[in-house]
Amino acid sequence: MSNTNTIHIPTPLRPFTDKKEAVEVSGSTVGELLADLTRRYEGLRKHLYTDEGRLRNFVNVYLNDEDIRYLQREQTPVKPGDSLSIVPSVAGGAPAVAPAATDLSQDEIKRYSRHLIIPEVGMDGQRRLKAASVLCIGAGGLGSPAAMYLAAAGVGRIGIVDFDVVDFSNLQRQLLHATPDVGRSKLQSAKDRLQALNPHVQIDTYETLLSSENALDLFAPYDVILDGTDNFPTRYLVNDACVLAGKPNAYGSIFRFEGQASVFGVKGGPCYRCLYPEPPPPGLVPSCAEGGVLGVLPGIIGVIQATESIKLILGIGEPLIGRFLIYDALKMRFRELKLRKDPECPVCGTHPTVTRLIDYEQFCGIRPEPDVASTDADDDWEITAVELKRRLDAGDSPFILDVREPNEYQINRIPGSTLIPLGELPRRYQELPRDREIIAQCKSGARSARATEFLRTTAGFKRVKNLRGGILDWIDKVDPSQPKY
Ligand code: ZN
Repeated sequence: MSNTNTIHIPTPLRPFTDKKEAVEVSGSTVGELLADLTRRYEGLRKHLYTDEGRLRNFVNVYLNDEDIRYLQREQTPVKPGDSLSIVPSVAGGAPAVAPAATDLSQDEIKRYSRHLIIPEVGMDGQRRLKAASVLCIGAGGLGSPAAMYLAAAGVGRIGIVDFDVVDFSNLQRQLLHATPDVGRSKLQSAKDRLQALNPHVQIDTYETLLSSENALDLFAPYDVILDGTDNFPTRYLVNDACVLAGKPNAYGSIFRFEGQASVFGVKGGPCYRCLYPEPPPPGLVPSCAEGGVLGVLPGIIGVIQATESIKLILGIGEPLIGRFLIYDALKMRFRELKLRKDPECPVCGTHPTVTRLIDYEQFCGIRPEPDVASTDADDDWEITAVELKRRLDAGDSPFILDVREPNEYQINRIPGSTLIPLGELPRRYQELPRDREIIAQCKSGARSARATEFLRTTAGFKRVKNLRGGILDWIDKVDPSQPKY
């Protein structure tokens, strides 16, 4: 009795399967399929099994996309046609990833000696830390201990996003900042503190509010994102951006005496939305500023986030993927909930409905949706030159988007229009305002009709209209002083 089944091989292990992404195997249990796989590709064995023949902890096996980590995984029966996926639960430190080539200086070897003598870290692991990068969202309660331990541990590049200044009320828990720093930018204060702690690491500072417009660009250069935010819109933004960018999210949150931690956004693992698909109604869950927080609490949770980041970088241990840790400081108790990836998750599920970053303030009910009645009543896809002129004269200020090429724009243009050539629109539409009506325009109306279609159906803009007849019609009917081409 032999079945034919498929095992999907993750990228880091493909060097051992002659670059094959999937291997056909046979057997009647998960264990037999894996045994058949390692018979065919002997080189895989040491990556999947310990010397004692046990499946390694960091190897997650999914049966038909179902996580079987919590079951008797090797005994799990399989049916013909079932497929297995091997998902090493590591971010950049997968077992087959070549060690980072970065060398350590004499000073660094002295500094990290307590790491170097741990077999699980060693020179190889320390070089990986040096080559790795973590982006901390926020330099507050969670970001403070996390960034300090990451810097001390030798994570080579640490980014911090924050735009706040240090306040006296921060000092009870935000140890990156000291009393003389009150009134300074948190980023400057954080950078000084971290560089004093470890001059061998690079500190990147981003003095900005994390937004749907900048999140993916900010995340791109980093291996791990550490979520130290204190509000729901940013938390959902960080989650969704991590899933979309394929970056692990070392998550933590705190309130009064209770903290939470997990690792989200790892392929195959759940995300924050698998747990909380919708935010609580605004005002229901108070923030730390409103409800207070025990000063040491972010210390504990932030250090857990730093620990998870370091484990992900090194590819060691059992990450908090699919596990939700809850800490109660009053009872001094940790509890752990199992989390499963929700196949219906709007972001990381099988048929995601959130495929780009949205307006998270609106999603969290902080800003009302634009008046739906007026947009529905106004659901005409075109506007004439005369009508546009009438509305501009009446003080209306729609955003006029010119989708022609720059050389055409030099010849003539509608006053106040903004140029984004049609070909650049798919990657630049984030530059467009979501709170204003957009009038798309080109030479004769054909290209801008495509732009209108794209913005409405793909990019999710509601109020977009095409200028019928383009700038040629505008010149004929409104402004004959401009040259035609
Ligand atoms: Zn999810």
